[in-house]
Amino acid sequence: MKRFKTVSLVALVGVLGVAIVGASFLMFGKLFKNKLVDDTVGASSTSSITREQQVENLLKTSDIQAAQYDYDKATSSIKAFDGYDKETSLTDALAKYAQGKSKLVKYADMSNITHIFFHSLIVDPQVAFAKDTNGGYNQYMATVSEFKKILDELYKRNFVLVSMHDIGHLDANGNMVEGTIMLPEGKKPMVISQDDVNYYYYMQGAGFADKLMVGDDGRPTTQYTTASGEKKQGEYDLVPILDNFIDKHPDFSYHGRKAILCITGYNGVLGYRTQETSTTRQAETVDAKKTADALKADGYEFASHSFGHIGFKVSSVQSILDDDAAWDDQVKPILGPTDLFVYPFGQDLAGLEEYSGEKFNDLYKRGFRYFANVDGSEPSWIQVHTKYLRQARRNIDGYRMFYNPELLKDLFNVQDVWEKARPTPVKPI
Ligand SMILES: [Zn+2]
Repeated sequence: MKRFKTVSLVALVGVLGVAIVGASFLMFGKLFKNKLVDDTVGASSTSSITREQQVENLLKTSDIQAAQYDYDKATSSIKAFDGYDKETSLTDALAKYAQGKSKLVKYADMSNITHIFFHSLIVDPQVAFAKDTNGGYNQYMATVSEFKKILDELYKRNFVLVSMHDIGHLDANGNMVEGTIMLPEGKKPMVISQDDVNYYYYMQGAGFADKLMVGDDGRPTTQYTTASGEKKQGEYDLVPILDNFIDKHPDFSYHGRKAILCITGYNGVLGYRTQETSTTRQAETVDAKKTADALKADGYEFASHSFGHIGFKVSSVQSILDDDAAWDDQVKPILGPTDLFVYPFGQDLAGLEEYSGEKFNDLYKRGFRYFANVDGSEPSWIQVHTKYLRQARRNIDGYRMFYNPELLKDLFNVQDVWEKARPTPVKPI
């Protein structure tokens, strides 16, 4: 089946750049299936704890899996426990999971899955907007307080976080095939990503987090330096905020999915100065890798956002090949391989026509199969090709909230989340 639809691609956004492509787009709807690595669960972490405690711990884990609609995994976690059939609490749980599973339905409209994205969140609006000489923070960023309110609203409106890997996956022949998302009636899958999770040099001291890091509990968190110079750890960017939200509301995440983090390399990654030219590269690479591993274990995925934040449409083939080589040398060893590519400035290689040419061939050869551009004009836009999947993303930022609140109505009401400290009018792009 082919579905055609025309949308206008208003590409956008890099933190510093502005590149807009107006184009007409066709869309082919047909999709596929997820291939995220199934993490194994410590079903029976034995040691010296009593059997009763083991059962209790197991139920904590399996109940979260069930809340995240992964009833199969919850069931197998329990069945992996020796003598589970003699524990009433476990057999009760199995019955409950079977009932939960029977209420799941296949999400029918796989071409209607929205994808929203943010940049680094502004922690201190007073500081950020005071330093915002060209208006970029106000245009391209959301604040911590806005993000928290938006999450509440998305949850209330029955959105559930999935991955682009749930929308489609590669079959044994390497072709994209439609995915199956099983949710209770009325729940709506959505993808969230965050661009430029690099904590660029120019953002230092401007009211943003300093870096992502591994917290004392082994989970990712952020470090923030206050205006008075105090270093703190906690909810200073999307990752720890989303983690804490999903701890409270596990059913906001489908099978443990979190967000896609889109990373460049020219100022290092995740707040660590790992680029070739950095004098602290070696030590920072060790910490960056630990942080990346903790993020992946926590449900996050990485996407390449190019090494140098270059526009793929306007750059020459040679400069793209050079950029690709820098990513493979300086970023991939830290983050690990990824098949997700998120275009800087939303600058997609092609319009409605299918991908071809040297630039695409290089991306394909390097293993990229999922591509995302920017288009805030419609709730969703997905194109499936036998070789790849493309999805449009909607920017959630000062520009969109100020100029097009009506385009966000399916997600939240702008007046309910708007940061009062934002200077208005937001500068036009
Ligand atoms: Zn960007």
